[in-house]
Amino acid sequence: MHKTDDTVRCRRHLADEAATLAFGAQLARGLESGPCAQADRPTGMTFYLEGDLGAGKTTLVRGVLRALGYGGRVKSPTYTLAESYSLPAFELYHFDLYRMHDPREWLDAGFRDVSDGHAVSLIEWPEKAAGWLPPPDVIVRLTIADDAREIECEAASPRGAQYLETCCTPC
Ligand code: ADP
Ligand code: MG
Repeated sequence: MHKTDDTVRCRRHLADEAATLAFGAQLARGLESGPCAQADRPTGMTFYLEGDLGAGKTTLVRGVLRALGYGGRVKSPTYTLAESYSLPAFELYHFDLYRMHDPREWLDAGFRDVSDGHAVSLIEWPEKAAGWLPPPDVIVRLTIADDAREIECEAASPRGAQYLETCCTPC
């Protein structure tokens, strides 16, 4: 974890798929213990997941969901654009906007309402609906590095900074 010009960031080398799943579990722990999980006053959190096809975005979401106790299959919402998961503490929405042709599809599908408020949203290809999405709390960037991956999480809101400080130390 380090702060550069007040931006809270954390970076990791992810040697294999298991490391991506484990980092997802680490992100999940922050959701369970952080601001999202206050029983009387849960607050939503929006993650933008950036990175090329095959960078590991869906794998990361799978790691988050497994760590939160979801035992079912985590499908990539490539064609459906969204999958929702009712977890004990909050609703989690996994979006993959890769196949979205017009950002208005975001509004037409009613996604604006679900991604507001108390839900946790993890959004692959957020650039496809730029300007229509809720602003991110955390921007996650995955890059392919030969057979491995690099990940960087950057806080984009005060709540995102608080969240990363609870779940990404020590770096
Ligand atoms: P995306 O959703 O970004 O398109 P996926 O999560 O579907 O990517 O992952 C694509 C492939 O990358 C999968 O075969 C997965 O096993 C692999 N993968 C995930 N994390 C790593 C890693 N840290 N090192 C090597 N391969 C990985
Ligand atoms: Mg994907």
